[in-house]
Amino acid sequence: MPYTFAERVNHMQNSAIRELLKVTEQPQIISFAGGLPAPELFPLKEIQESYAQVFGTGDPSVLQYGTTEGYLPLREEIAAQMRIKGIQTEAENIFLTNGSQQGLDLIAKLFINPGDIVLLQNPSYLGAIQTFRSYQANFETIPTNGPGIDSAALELSIKLNRPKIIYLAPTYQNPTGTTLTVEERKMVLRIASKYNIPIIEDDPYCELHYDGSSILPIRSYSTEDEVVYLGTFSKTLAPGLRLGWIVGGKDLITKLVVAKQGTDLHTSTLLQKATHYYLTHFNPIQHIERIRQAYKIRRNLMLNELKKNFNDQAIWTEPSGGMFIWLTLPEAYDTLKLLPYALASNVAYVPGANFYTDGKSYSNMRLNFSNPSPLQIKQGIKRLASILPNY
Ligand code: PMP
Repeated sequence: MPYTFAERVNHMQNSAIRELLKVTEQPQIISFAGGLPAPELFPLKEIQESYAQVFGTGDPSVLQYGTTEGYLPLREEIAAQMRIKGIQTEAENIFLTNGSQQGLDLIAKLFINPGDIVLLQNPSYLGAIQTFRSYQANFETIPTNGPGIDSAALELSIKLNRPKIIYLAPTYQNPTGTTLTVEERKMVLRIASKYNIPIIEDDPYCELHYDGSSILPIRSYSTEDEVVYLGTFSKTLAPGLRLGWIVGGKDLITKLVVAKQGTDLHTSTLLQKATHYYLTHFNPIQHIERIRQAYKIRRNLMLNELKKNFNDQAIWTEPSGGMFIWLTLPEAYDTLKLLPYALASNVAYVPGANFYTDGKSYSNMRLNFSNPSPLQIKQGIKRLASILPNY
């Protein structure tokens, strides 16, 4: 039977990265394409033990339905962590999600009418673009002057476009690895508040800082819930768990409850209780420090290898955290067209075009340094540089 799908289905796009990941699973390929954490750093034993413990009590409530907002002790624990990051909040303002990707979807479900404008960084996280697009959003990009945000142009754009929301990943952004300065954070908040535009602050990488301490989230400067903050355990614990959270005002949480009820009622009870056990019985701070040390070595190595192999053939960002380096080739290169050459040489990256909303071709690529081993980073960057003369 030929189905007649809803109009919104025409706006849904397959994630290019998920498709690419299928190819890069072949063992001979060194992949800088995924945004995957290093699996050897997962706290496997501790999570195993946490699940065993919450099951071991024989308490059937671990298998029962739970509240849509989430398991209260876990929300309390997350609220305490948020306060350490300068976000003054309580458990009642924490809403649990199946990863921050679901947070993005619920936010889009609540805010976006077809044709509404989302103002975002250019480039931006592909999964956010995909979600906003499926709710038929249109996009405008945050104007920049060189590396920074142009405040006058931003205000003008807000006046002209009247965006419904501003979407930002301000810390070690996916895909570029760049970070907004404190001044930029305060400036965007001031302008957004003046025009009553909520900021959606997507912050999965904030704990992964390699050069000194982390910068405070935009939400920490906000006093009136102008900023909706999205957090996740995907990068600090494990992405396969699928656990994230939203920090929002009371009104937003009430609406999120209704939106999530229509989607999945609530996040897995067992997962929430096991994660709470992990956070309160093991040493998550020490674990994150281990991840930082390992990723810092990989970041430094990739930067070094880029210098050695690309020299003056490209420019790239030097992120002080996160998982990605953004490499830009001379304009004559189209990294979509270059990809088959890379795959033929058994190395993969994500073409820059996937992170822009205009469908044009670009000469940049996203390189992930958290998942490949140091040896793979060395070999892979060499392979990548060697394909340029073939193009
Ligand atoms: N936002 C950004 C900026 C991301 O990079 C990612 C993961 N790649 C997500 C959200 C989704 O993460 P989660 O696993 O928490 O759904």
